[in-house]
Formats: sequence, C-alpha cells, structure tokens
Amino acid sequence: MSDIFKIAILPGDGIGPEIMKQAIKVLEKIEKYITKKIVIDTYIVGGAAINIYGNPLPKKTLYGCEKSNAILFGSVGGPEWDYLPLNKRPEKGSLLKLRKHFNLFANIRPTFFYKDLGILSPLKEKILYKGFDIVCIRELTGGIYFGLPNGRKGKGIDEYAFDTEIYSRFEIERIAHIAFNIALKRKKKICSIDKANVLNTSILWREVLTDISKQYISVKLEHMYIDNAVMQLMKNPSQFDVILCPNLFGDIISDQCAMISGSVGNLPSASFNQNYFGLYEPSGGSAPSIAGKNIANPIAQILSLAMLIEYSLKEKNISQKIKNAIKKILNMGYRTKDLFTDSINEKIITTDDMGTLIMETII
Ligand code: NAD
Repeated sequence: MSDIFKIAILPGDGIGPEIMKQAIKVLEKIEKYITKKIVIDTYIVGGAAINIYGNPLPKKTLYGCEKSNAILFGSVGGPEWDYLPLNKRPEKGSLLKLRKHFNLFANIRPTFFYKDLGILSPLKEKILYKGFDIVCIRELTGGIYFGLPNGRKGKGIDEYAFDTEIYSRFEIERIAHIAFNIALKRKKKICSIDKANVLNTSILWREVLTDISKQYISVKLEHMYIDNAVMQLMKNPSQFDVILCPNLFGDIISDQCAMISGSVGNLPSASFNQNYFGLYEPSGGSAPSIAGKNIANPIAQILSLAMLIEYSLKEKNISQKIKNAIKKILNMGYRTKDLFTDSINEKIITTDDMGTLIMETII
C-alpha cells in the first residue's frame, strides 16, 4: 500500500473557499500525526469553473479527483449562475456529476446535539434534554433525481414537466448493507423512510429492506412513512439512531436533522462508493448572502475533514482530536455569527478566527 495519501481539494463557490481555508489550517496542524504522507492539490469547480472554462467540472478537476484517494469538497452554486439551464448549473453540472462518476451512492450525515448550542435548536428544552445522535443515510445516485425520462413538453397552458422515480432491487440492497453495517456499530436500530402507501418504488424499497434484515438479525428494522418521520423528528428525535432514506426523502430529512441540531454550518457529510472512495463536504450549501464576509461557520467543513481522516485514512484518534478541539472552543463560548445568541460568555468571532482557534486547540 502506498505511503502517500492524495486529497483533492475543491473549494467551489460562495463561502466554500473561506471555510475550506480553515479546514486546510487544521489539516496542516494534524498531518504530522498521520501515518501516511498527505499530498493536497486544489482544483476549480462549480460556478468558479464556469466563469473560467464555461464548464462546472473541467477535465483537469475530474482527472485530479480520479488520481486522489479522497475528495474534500466545499460547496457550489449561487444566483450568478441561476440563469443557466439546470444541467449546466454548478450543482447539477459538478457535484451531481461527481457523485455519478464515482458512483457515490451512499451519503452519510451524522447529526448530533452539542450541549453548549442547545439554545439554537428550535426544539423545546423538554425534547432536547434527552439529546440525540442520529446518522442519516441517504441513497444518492438513484431515485427521482436521476430517473429517465424527465423534462418539459408542450407550450402555453398545455405545457407540462415530468420526473421519473426508479429504484432497482440492486440499488436498494447495496445501500441497505451500508445501513445495516453502520447500525451494527451503533445502537442496532434502523428506521427506513418511505411512502409505501402511495409509491411503487417505496413498496419495493420496503420489501427489499425487510429481506436484507434477515441477514442482520441483531438489528431492529422499523419502517416509517416520510410524512410521519418529519413529525417524529420534531416530537422525539431521541427515538432515532440510523435513518435510511431514498434520495428525495433523504435530501429533505437530512436538512431537517441539520436544523434541529441548531445550525447547518456545524454538520459534515460523506458520500461513498462500494470501494469506500469518499467525497466529504459540509451539509449546507454555498450560502451566497454571507460569502466573502468572513462570518461563515467553518465547523462543518472542518468536521468533513475529520470524517475523511476517520473513514478514508482510518485514523479515528486523530479525527477525535479535531472533534474534541471543536467541543472545547464551543464550550469556551466562541461563536461564529450563525451560532451567536448574545448569551453570557458568548464571544462572536470571524470564520478565520474560528479556524485558527480550533487549529490551535488541537493537542
Ligand atoms: P445554503 O445551505 O447555502 O443556505 C441556507 C442557510 O444556511 C442560509 O441562511 C445560509 O446563510 C446558512 N448557512 C449555510 N451554511 C452556513 C455556514 N457554513 N455558516 C453560516 N451559515 C450557513 O442553502 P441555499 O440557500 O438553499 O442554497 C444556496 C446555494 O447553495 C444555491 O446555489 C444552491 O444550489 C447551493 N447549494 C449547494 C450545495 C452543495 O454544494 N453541496 C448544497 C445545497 C445548496
């Protein structure tokens, strides 16, 4: 096995470059603890790449990712490119293409509750006090976002648009195995989300999950309709451990998980293929309205790096060092604007300062 580990860095648009800078600071601090030699290369992607090359995913960027061992992604998109047809926009033209190209079918988003940030959660204290620690697993390369045919036809009052939801048994089985394996290392509990009272794809989803569960008898599998799941997450999030969803429902519910935790700026994510090649990125987007102001929260980007170190480099202890430093900084009252509530002991700081403080606190 090579002693060199290559990371492709794709900062992207909006707050992407600012928060990525903070993750790099942290990486530079911890690389001395990592067994392998880390080599990073930065590539242009998204709207920034459209502006220069007219293509959100230039060949050089794709090639750079192919020769890397993992990708650390920032975020892409913004109003500047909203005039473009969907396929040419930064999100569909780069991020969705990367997911498809590397077959990153499993998206993992941990959602946890920081005790020191309880005040930010929209949930009532009596719900929050039970805490929650959820892993949301979303099928990422199938379902309605990729199903064909899709498009628009007709004109005037007769114009119509259509999308197609398709799931094969194979696609459901492989994501089910990922979910059951993660559940085995946690509380051995999966809640699978579907709409099996209406959709054919959901009926198949439920059947396949039930079949696969017979291979993991120690894991308790529960099925829940998406409409009930969004309510249950508000009412009693502590009941969930691993949540497994098809693409569309996962897109929605993982953002809801982010919201109840307090800030989308705190939550990382990872997307894997069958060989566990991973793309790591914050759960949020490019937040164009706060870009360039040095106020964005870099924690999700830094935690995405921590996930990369844990899952791709298999250095869980080093990943934990980063998480401990973040907890310590939050406990000391340091907050970026999105986390600031003007409570006693809170000190508002910039994106740069948050990155530096976390980096300096790692021991
Ligand atoms: P968004 O996540 O960018 O913003 C939603 C809200 O969260 C905004 O109020 C924003 O200011 C805030 N926010 C997000 N990240 C933050 C951070 N790190 N620190 C502080 N506040 C933060 O979602 P949106 O507004 O729906 O989308 C904006 C753009 O991002 C769009 O162009 C969209 O296509 C793109 N987008 C990209 C990705 C991605 O690259 N993975 C994901 C979602 C949206």
